[in-house]
Amino acid sequence: MAEPKLIVDIITIFPQYFAPALEVGPLKRADQINLITIRFQNLRELADSPKEIDDYPYGGGSGMVLKPEPVKRALERAGYKDGFVILFSPQGRVLTQSLAHELVGKRHLILICGRYKGVDERIMKYVDLELSIGDYVLSGGEPAALVLLDVLVRLIPGALGDMDSAATDSFESGILDAPYFTRPKVFEGEPVPEVLLSGNHAAIRRWRRKEALRRTLKKRPDLLEKADLSDEDLELLNEILHEERRRTDE
Ligand code: SAH
Repeated sequence: MAEPKLIVDIITIFPQYFAPALEVGPLKRADQINLITIRFQNLRELADSPKEIDDYPYGGGSGMVLKPEPVKRALERAGYKDGFVILFSPQGRVLTQSLAHELVGKRHLILICGRYKGVDERIMKYVDLELSIGDYVLSGGEPAALVLLDVLVRLIPGALGDMDSAATDSFESGILDAPYFTRPKVFEGEPVPEVLLSGNHAAIRRWRRKEALRRTLKKRPDLLEKADLSDEDLELLNEILHEERRRTDE
């Protein structure tokens, strides 16, 4: 069988946290067709005794700290010298779609899931990237690891079936995605936009791009400042601004 495209080692005290999520959707599919290999390094099995995974912080204070030795053993078992080591932390670089594209290009990721107050600071010398999933505090790195896996697997060619698609998703082209409609044609008196029923693919593509720009302008104007906009985009934005101005004048 072909080499998997991405190997992920997850260093955690709760491997069982991941089981149900790996049984559904693109993660399951990617595993089945060998696009991803996920391995667990269970800190409890790597400690001198199951109780010796954490200890009190030097200097006192509440909360426990994950001890460095089991984490180092887990890194060794994962083959950290040939991998890219990520430590989940609320103090890390915040995950974005473009960072996800960078990370999926690494062949081997090693994810360290912290718990309690975090991991002994002396593990930092083995860490290539501290990664956060947002400005809030989780009880452990496990949900962050699942978020990262879900984001990454969508970017592996072949992992998404026909039921899904990634290219037009929000952030992929620097802006938000367009609105979507499905049957029925009329719901609670509200019809589907006419153009989507027209069969005119060029007109539909243009409408979608315009509505995507309109939503981005409304919901996330900060994205427009950084987005790589085409001449057509600028033309569409101009139309939108005229339409919005007309609407407020009425
Ligand atoms: N004392 C730490 C927080 C510890 S939370 C601090 O204030 O910086 C316990 C663990 O949950 C962390 O070690 C980390 O692995 C994970 N975690 C918490 N919030 C996170 C976030 N926003 N993104 C990624 N991981 C997070």
